[in-house]
Amino acid sequence: GSIVRATGLVKTHRPEGAAPVHAVRGVDLSVERGEFVAVTGPSGAGKSTLLHLLAGLVRPDSGTIELDGRRIDTLSEARRAMLRRRHIGVVFQFFNLVSNLTVADNVELPALLAGRSPKQARADRTELLEELGLAAKEKRTPGELSGGEQQRVALARALVNAPSLLLADEPAGSLDSKGTREVLRLLGRFHQRGQTILLVTHDARMAGAADRVISFFDGQVADDVHLDGGRPGA
Ligand code: ADP
Ligand code: ADP
Repeated sequence: GSIVRATGLVKTHRPEGAAPVHAVRGVDLSVERGEFVAVTGPSGAGKSTLLHLLAGLVRPDSGTIELDGRRIDTLSEARRAMLRRRHIGVVFQFFNLVSNLTVADNVELPALLAGRSPKQARADRTELLEELGLAAKEKRTPGELSGGEQQRVALARALVNAPSLLLADEPAGSLDSKGTREVLRLLGRFHQRGQTILLVTHDARMAGAADRVISFFDGQVADDVHLDGGRPGA
């Protein structure tokens, strides 16, 4: 079945003292288990808003969102936060690490918040940091790391609870070409292992790493293509 299923999603931003912005204007979308989907399109198309909706960070004005078959759009903020912690990993362009915590603590924190024992959290953190080549940096703070390293820490943090879905919002947007290649390589590796990934990017080269590309334009899905040439559901 689908990991994510959204129907009729609508989200209008209503900034104070400014005109409303119709960011997402009627979107139907399903992501199947194990898919690596890129959502691409120009700046302002509504990609980030869509990702925030799917992450449960904001609530749609109308429409439904199911994660693993359960409605999340109708849940309270507290319940959505719990669900996010356990089932969704998110990485952002600017990493959003806790600057005064060590790398190790940044990665362990979500595991502890999700109710893992300290021992289990430590074991999961150690395994991921080793896998991501960061074992030697675990006592550092984020400010002592390069951008690429910080994004790898953010990836470890997003994956520590083995989420059903990894959401990545322009994860290479503030990295150089080396960091970009590294992020792509890691996303590819986790995908090979069965991780479901939804990547938001305006970068065609990054989108090309996915096996399905959804083109977003003006708050709507303009195209939805499997890169082997087929179309989902066709
Ligand atoms: P706060 O959360 O304190 O309102 P924000 O920085 O999120 O502060 O938002 C400040 C203002 O800018 C708000 O009116 C918000 O709706 C608007 N805003 C936030 N993000 C964006 C964006 N990406 N594009 C346009 N307006 C935005
Ligand atoms: P993209 O990720 O494709 O660049 P966004 O979802 O960030 O698109 O933005 C879609 C539209 O909604 C843009 O016009 C943007 O300025 C606006 N927007 C995004 N977030 C907010 C917000 N919090 N408040 C007001 N406007 C926003």
